[in-house]
This record gives sequence, structure tokens and C-alpha cells, in this order.
Amino acid sequence: MSEMLGKFLATEMSADRLTQLVQLFQHAHVGLVVTDADANITEVNDTACAISGYSRQQLIGRNPSILKSGQHEEAFYREMWAALNQAGFWNGEICNRRLDGILFHEQISIAAVRGADGLATHYVAILSDISRRHAVEEQMRRVAQYDPLTGLPNRLLLADRLERAIAVNRRAETLLAVCFLDLDGFKHINDTLGHEAGDNMLKEVGDRIHSALRSSDTVARLGGDEFVMLLSGMVSEDECCMTLDRLLKVIAEPYALIADTLSEISASIGVTIFPADSEDADTLLRHADQAMYAAKHAGKNCYQLFDVRMEQRIQARQDTLRRVARALRTEQFELHYQPKLDIRQGKVIGAEALIRWNHPVLGSLSPSEFIPLVEDDELAIALGEWVISEALRQGRAWHEQGLDLVISVNAFAKQLQRPNFAEVLARLIEEAWPAMPAGRLMLEIVEHSPSELESMEEVILASHKLGARFSLDDFGTGHSSLSCLRLLTVDEIKIYQGFVHDMLDDVETAALVEGVIGLGQAFGLQVVAEGVESDAHIVRLLELGCNVVQGYRIGYPLPAREFEQWLASFSINPAWSKT
Ligand code: C2E
Ligand code: MG
Ligand code: MG
Repeated sequence: MSEMLGKFLATEMSADRLTQLVQLFQHAHVGLVVTDADANITEVNDTACAISGYSRQQLIGRNPSILKSGQHEEAFYREMWAALNQAGFWNGEICNRRLDGILFHEQISIAAVRGADGLATHYVAILSDISRRHAVEEQMRRVAQYDPLTGLPNRLLLADRLERAIAVNRRAETLLAVCFLDLDGFKHINDTLGHEAGDNMLKEVGDRIHSALRSSDTVARLGGDEFVMLLSGMVSEDECCMTLDRLLKVIAEPYALIADTLSEISASIGVTIFPADSEDADTLLRHADQAMYAAKHAGKNCYQLFDVRMEQRIQARQDTLRRVARALRTEQFELHYQPKLDIRQGKVIGAEALIRWNHPVLGSLSPSEFIPLVEDDELAIALGEWVISEALRQGRAWHEQGLDLVISVNAFAKQLQRPNFAEVLARLIEEAWPAMPAGRLMLEIVEHSPSELESMEEVILASHKLGARFSLDDFGTGHSSLSCLRLLTVDEIKIYQGFVHDMLDDVETAALVEGVIGLGQAFGLQVVAEGVESDAHIVRLLELGCNVVQGYRIGYPLPAREFEQWLASFSINPAWSKT
């Protein structure tokens, strides 16, 4: 509307009509300001006074520049005047300052009123206050670009900042560090202290990162406990490392999230540096993310710089995972069984199923060549189900042949972390061995972090009802052996084979093994020694009170048919139980 009016003013105005127009606009809802050729105000209406906060007397005779807010560059006004002088008209938005100092935004159309000689005699401006609309727009922009919890830029704004930072650092020939940060064990805070405390921790972490960096750097939150930092204008990698060391320290300071308790957390950070690494924003972020995973693997609470070998390793990992998935579909996996012998009873009481990959080209591959890769991937669920199912099928076949064996299966942590594990197990038993007598399936688990024990125990209890039992494998190698023993309903512990291996040569290890055996007995559990390779081991273990053993001295892991043959010809060596 004001644009049309402006054009009308610019062409049709005489001095008389100008006076008429001022009268007409006296009480209008839009503001009207008329100036002379030198831009000194000659007329204003009430609305223009109300918008600016100045009275009529304060405005008449003054230049509208008294309203200047300082928010626009000089070039802005130069362009406005250039348009007025050439086209006789300008339309736009200006941010001005009211008499009380408050900034306001106005939509304004200015027209030059020209005399017969073509020179401007007056300028007429029609304006309306759009501060409210402006505030809403500003708020919408914030919602779209900022994370509501921490107030930090979100993924969208980060993308923008990253592009800009690349351009700035390219021009300045400085380094840009793109850092991907993920908190270590944040889920535990959320689970134990509640979501509100978790949220407060995220806010505080955001604040701490923000204040540890320079104002020209960017901190963004991508969601969850993931943050990205852009450290701009670095001159050396060392400078970046110093900043990150400082950052890890501030994050590790205690947090007062709930009354009377201090909580702690650490972070893993992956870093990649422009221009040494890619020029492409997405690639930089991806590499920083990969380096973050390397930091997790390196033990957390640290940072790792991206290097190309990392990319290659990740590629190799993806390839292997794809091959494992295909091998699972094409039945290239096989279980071997290793006997578990009770020396006192003189009887093989069970067998541990150990996976082998019959690779079409590479031959039989041991678990160490693929299990560590699979373990962290969702593929562990499918592979783990296959192992349980196959072991159950074999257990049933032996049971039907009259062999009483407990089948031990190594479970993946990922499987047991699923709340529906017992349902899955129920289905597998139903399919493979519906009449399984209780206790014939033993699931071997390795230690879990204390935070996982609670949910783990629920899974164990539910699986117990289905007839499964649990064993703590490689006992004594983790940090939480005792908590596992105390909090989980297990039936067996297996002494880590490294301890068994060293126990004859090293007094301290021997004392440790003795301690573990005593601990197991105190809890009423079956204690199994793994990795038993000699008669001397067996004799010593018996002396210490451990009578169930597994190891090459008893029998190697064998395919099911060969295991049957081995079992048929097995007889206990009388030398073992002499003591
Ligand atoms: P583990 O469960 O502790 O299994 C014992 C490992 O020690 C087996 O290695 C076995 O072959 C080996 N071993 C047995 N007796 C002796 C001995 O007297 N001396 C020595 N030096 N070693 C002995 P393997 O089969 O290579 O398996 C290695 C690990 O891979 C297993 O350790 C287990 O953690 C994992 N694994 C194997 N099969 C599976 C599976 O089906 N599922 C899962 N999740 N993990 C598996
Ligand atoms: Mg095992
Ligand atoms: Mg073991």
C-alpha cells in the first residue's frame, strides 16, 4: 500500500495537495513525516510521534537522523539517498531508536516531492511500526536455528557457520579444527538421576564449553549428548590440542545436579583439521565423528585426531561386517565344542560352543578375527541368535542320544542389553528344543559396567524361568567383577585363562586364582578353570578346590561329530585325581 502511495506522491504532488495530505493523515494509523529539501522535518502526524516517542515540537525542524539506532552501516543510508535522488522513491525497513532509547523497526516508504524544475522540494515518508512482527520473525529464526535446551546453535545453524568458517580460514590461511564431542556414559546419568538432572547437565556442559572457547568459535548441540565445536583461526595443531586439553578438564569438573551429591562425566572428542583434511563441510563432520569413535575406543575422556588410516580402518570394518552378514546367510559359520570336565566326578559335564567361520577362501577363521568387529554392531544380535539356536539344536540332538551335557554359549553384550532378550530366547528354545530340561543352556557373559547391571539382572531372571543359567566368563579381568557377582544371579564363574596360565610361575597370580575360587565357593557357585594346558595345572587347581576344568589338556574345541567321537573314547587320567 505504502509503495503505491509513495509512487503517487512522487509524481502528483503540489504544495497545496501536500498540506491536504498532512491533514488527511493527522489521525491515520500509519505515521507520516514531511521534510523540506534539506531533510528537516516540517510536518509529522500523531502516529509518527507515538512510534518515535518524540513530541511534535521535538521533531519539527530536526533531521530524522536523530532517530538513528546505529544498527545500519553508513552504506545503507547512502543507498537510500541514491535511490531517492535518482528514482525519487525508496522503500524498506529501518531500525531506529525511540526517545527512551528502545530500538524499533519500521516499514517506511519515502518519496521525493519535486518542483517544476525537477529538484526535490520536500520528502514525504509514510511509516508503520513493525517491531512486533520483527520480534516474532526473530523468535522463529531462533527456534529454527538454536537448540531450545542449551540455547546453542543447532545442526542447521552449524552447517551455515561451518561453511563460513571454512571460507574465513581459507582466506586467512589459518587452521580450522572441527571437533565432535560425545559425553561418556551420559545415559547412566539420565537413568540414575532422571531426565531433569540429565538436561541440567547438558546445559551446564554447553555453558562450560562455551566459556572455555573464544567468542569467535562456535559450539553447537546436535542433539542428545553430542556437541560440535568449530575452533577457528588456529595457527598450529598444538594450539588446538591445548584448547581441547583445557576443555576435557572443565567438563570433568564435578556437577551439582541434585542436592548433596556431585556427579561426574567425561567426554570423548574427535578432531579433524581444515585444510589438512577435506574442504567439504559434510566430510569434515563425518571425519570428526569417526575420530570421536576412535577416542571412545582409546578409553574415553580423551581426544583423537582424524587420520586417513582411520577412514581405511572404518572401510575395512564395514567390508568385514558385510561379509559376516553374507556368511551368516550362506551358512559359513559352524560351532565347535570344547569339553568341560568335572575331575572329581570323572565326567564331562558340558561343552562350550565356540564359533568358527569356514571362509571359502581363507579357511577356518577363529573368533578373534571377526568377533571384536561384530560385537559393537547390530549384527551381533543376528549372529548371537544363530549361535544360541544352533547350540540348542545340537544340545537336543545329544540329549536324544542320551548324552547329558550342559551347552555353554557365549552371549554378546548387545543381545543381553536388549530388554526383549528373554522373549527372543523363549522363541529360540521353542523352535530348537521345546522340551529342554532346565539348566541345559548356560549363557556365558563377560563383565558389564555397573550401570548396566540392574537391567541385566532383569533379563537374567526372566531367562532363568525359561531354563537358562548364567556364567561369568573371564572372571577377574574387568573392574566390576565383585559387583557382577553380588548383583547378578549367576550359577558359574570361569577363571580367566590368563590367570590359569600364569598361576604355576607367579605367586601373586596363584593367590588371585585361589581368591577367585574361594569367592565362587562363598557364593555357592560352580568355579571353572579355563585354559588348562598341563597336568600340573589340574593338580594345582584341585588342591585349591577347583574341580571343573576346560582346556587343551582335556580336549580341543571340535566340530560336533568329532566331539562325539572324542567323548566316546574319553577316559579320565587317574593321575589327575590322585590328590
Ligand atoms: P572364551 O569364551 O573365553 O573361550 C575360550 C577360548 O579359549 C576359546 O578361544 C578356546 O578355544 C580357547 N582355549 C580353550 N582351551 C584353551 C587352552 O588350553 N589354552 C589356550 N591358550 N586357549 C584355550 P576361541 O574359540 O578362539 O574364542 C575366543 C573368544 O571368542 C571366546 O573366549 C569368546 O569370548 C569369543 N567367542 C567364541 N565363540 C563365540 C560365540 O559364539 N559368541 C560370542 N559372543 N563370542 C564367542
Ligand atoms: Mg566363553
Ligand atoms: Mg573365557
